[in-house]
Amino acid sequence: MTGKMIELFGAMVGNPIVRKRVKGLLERENGSVKLERILRDYAEDNGGHPVLNKIIDTGLKVFGGNADDLKNRLRDPVWRRGFVNVISGLVHFGLRKPFVPGSPFLIVWDVTYACNLKCRHCYSTAGRPWDDELSTEEALSVIEILADAGVTSVAFSGGEPLLRKDFFELVSRLKEYGVYVAVATNGTLLTEEMVSRLKSHGVEYVQISLDGLRETHEKFRGIAGIYDRVLDGIKNAVNAGLTVCISTTATKMNLRDVPEMMNLAEKLGVKWFMLYNYIPTGRGDIDLDLEPHDRERLLRLLWNKMKETDVNFMSTAPYYARVAIESESSVIPTHFYNPELGGRLRSLGEFIGGCGCGRFYLALRANGDINPCVFFPLWLENIKNFSDSEDFLHFWRENRILRDLRDKDSLEICGDCRYRYVCGGCRARSYAYFNDYMSGDPGCIMANHRIKKIKLTERA
Ligand code: SF4
Ligand code: SF4
Repeated sequence: MTGKMIELFGAMVGNPIVRKRVKGLLERENGSVKLERILRDYAEDNGGHPVLNKIIDTGLKVFGGNADDLKNRLRDPVWRRGFVNVISGLVHFGLRKPFVPGSPFLIVWDVTYACNLKCRHCYSTAGRPWDDELSTEEALSVIEILADAGVTSVAFSGGEPLLRKDFFELVSRLKEYGVYVAVATNGTLLTEEMVSRLKSHGVEYVQISLDGLRETHEKFRGIAGIYDRVLDGIKNAVNAGLTVCISTTATKMNLRDVPEMMNLAEKLGVKWFMLYNYIPTGRGDIDLDLEPHDRERLLRLLWNKMKETDVNFMSTAPYYARVAIESESSVIPTHFYNPELGGRLRSLGEFIGGCGCGRFYLALRANGDINPCVFFPLWLENIKNFSDSEDFLHFWRENRILRDLRDKDSLEICGDCRYRYVCGGCRARSYAYFNDYMSGDPGCIMANHRIKKIKLTERA
């Protein structure tokens, strides 16, 4: 679905009569959302729904889309979930920029804090599992809540998610619901057997952390020989046909390694390279944070590399959208969507641009605590307090902090920046530096000098 089609749907759903009818289609019947079933029938030439068929046909005519292509896509349950989520967002939040889906597109779920490594910069300060991590039964209830609420994808993270004993049971349950499943791992457990197990359970996307070339990576991880183990894991995953992403958290320690790491990503045949936006939380030291001009240079390098190769060189730094636009590209990389799913939805453009915390995605901790983002340790709720998906959806729509985070116009400094809808600054960084998630983002080259002025005035 393109951004233009969303605008069309938005305009149609803006009509109170159509809105009422579409709202009715978002109700659940016999365990599933009516609209999801209708879309499946449409994709399989099995009827559909007169109003919806008309909207789709109009959209295809106006924007020159092809019905067969759309039907092919809608045969994929993840696509249908995504579609329903977009429509539900239009019904509940209206046509706003940036777009807010009816339910998070992505939940990053730290399923355990058990980890076989102890990295210097780990945001989750992982190592040993927490005493209050969700049991299997509780985790399965969480999946039911998320799936029924219409969540499109879940990325398991940690700690090391593959250490969780019931990991594959949780994956299977999500797949039964048609939810897209991704895994973020340190790569050391990705044996040939493990990657084939992941594949057979329907995991398509694996993100593997590599935080530098050999010397730097081993210094970060504190274990000699670990670099080769990670590279073996990457090769195993690529050979198994998984979509592989190398993720690197850019800090002062590995800044110099990044250009060569990009070449390495190409050589290894991965599809994605994700440059993470370092935020000093958890075990992360503030002195490791990049200077804004170094970050800017790195993002420009990344963008130029992206243009010359088949690897998707992306960044979770929200300013990457500005860098891309300034480089006159039509592609707007966005933050924290699952890249494979994001590839399918990339043309949503500015509707999904910028910092996705509390707007496009949420972070779930191993004990059920909900944060706006994995780098943003602000407690919002605990999912165990919800008895069903309706409770979760009420929280998603009404929580005060989530509402604040969606309001890009009210941000300090970013609020009057023309990139606010495609960037909006990193709210976790503002929170980490100033304990105020609505303040200016000191990581941005455009905002930094203004922040310094404000702080100096405050001190005077
Ligand atoms: S001022 Fe804010 S919205 Fe503008 S580019 Fe910088 S971080 Fe992004
Ligand atoms: S707060 Fe936003 S930009 Fe910052 S790390 Fe989280 S999702 Fe990314």
